[in-house]
Amino acid sequence: MITEETCPECGGRLLNEVICTYPPIPAKRCLKCGWSWEGKQEAVKTVRFDPPEEGDMKDITYCSNISCPFNDCDRHPKQLKGKAGIASFADFAGTCRRYISWLVDEVKEDQERG
Ligand SMILES: [Zn+2]
Repeated sequence: MITEETCPECGGRLLNEVICTYPPIPAKRCLKCGWSWEGKQEAVKTVRFDPPEEGDMKDITYCSNISCPFNDCDRHPKQLKGKAGIASFADFAGTCRRYISWLVDEVKEDQERG
């Protein structure tokens, strides 16, 4: 997810800038009213960018319902096994038809057993 900051004065979009000294100085500027902010010189950290490969994590929201029995579901957290990166989660238990019908069957069987 990409976070977009807004101006504390007018609510307009803020542009992130870097003042090119070394180490650089982070700065922000409002595109609407011209408000600006200047930070302190920040240390530079160099990291290698590894583009995601085919078969890596999909750009989807995974389901946080770990107890769901449907491992083959695209959103099941088990799909993330052996993969690295940042994934977003939401609880789809209340809206997933497959899970709800499974749950209903489980409850029915429970009641039939007494
Ligand atoms: Zn502004």
